[in-house]
Amino acid sequence: MCCKVYSIKELNKPAGQWCIHAVRGSGCSIHANRPRSCREFFCSWLIDPNLGPEWKPEVCRFVMSADPAYQALTLMVDPGMPLGPALLSTWLTLPGPQVRTANRSPRAATMAAIAAPSS
Ligand code: SF4
Repeated sequence: MCCKVYSIKELNKPAGQWCIHAVRGSGCSIHANRPRSCREFFCSWLIDPNLGPEWKPEVCRFVMSADPAYQALTLMVDPGMPLGPALLSTWLTLPGPQVRTANRSPRAATMAAIAAPSS
């Protein structure tokens, strides 16, 4: 899913379209030579053991990652899911996290930055 929702500058790949190097069922066909932005990206599901299988991007249809610049979580939603995944809708209504920005477009990936609860 991350190979679809994000833009990859080095490849001129726009957000919301599958990368030409993504092979269904086997991953990246240029894994050893993939661009730096791909090498340096780790979604929250990969690095946070608290996120169960329901948060796997292929299941929930969005990719969650930490954005240290904004101290926020960023969600990139599969634009092929125009009504929005149920898990995302549920999460956005929970108390605690505060929605900072949300932008939906049928032609572009949807992004919502969720601020960490203030302490
Ligand atoms: S180069 Fe590989 S890792 Fe990077 S977006 Fe394309 S398929 Fe994914």
